[in-house]
Amino acid sequence: MAKKQQKSGTASPSPEKGEQAMIEGIIEGSPDAVGVAVIRLDCGCRKMAAVDKSGDPASKIIMYRDNAESICALCKEDNGDYMRVVKQFISWKSPEPDAHTQAMITAKVLGAEQ
Ligand SMILES: [Zn+2]
Repeated sequence: MAKKQQKSGTASPSPEKGEQAMIEGIIEGSPDAVGVAVIRLDCGCRKMAAVDKSGDPASKIIMYRDNAESICALCKEDNGDYMRVVKQFISWKSPEPDAHTQAMITAKVLGAEQ
């Protein structure tokens, strides 16, 4: 089976190093979580929240900024407005839910694409 490099668009990007550490921390504190929604904002801040198997929130929404003590002034003002989202995806906890469940949760949490 040839494994081709997936084109951007539909594929979930992998979390970056700093994000991965946050994701693990969130999952640890959220026993019901099946994954963590990761939202990257155009200012460099991140928004994350654990989701359960029904696509409901399993933690508080956490906002942070790499290598900074707090999120930026803009985020403090608009709370990470969705208009500024540059990338959003769900990082699944292992073992990952089946594709159908993933699609359902993704649509519920991030909204259907298109
Ligand atoms: Zn920000």
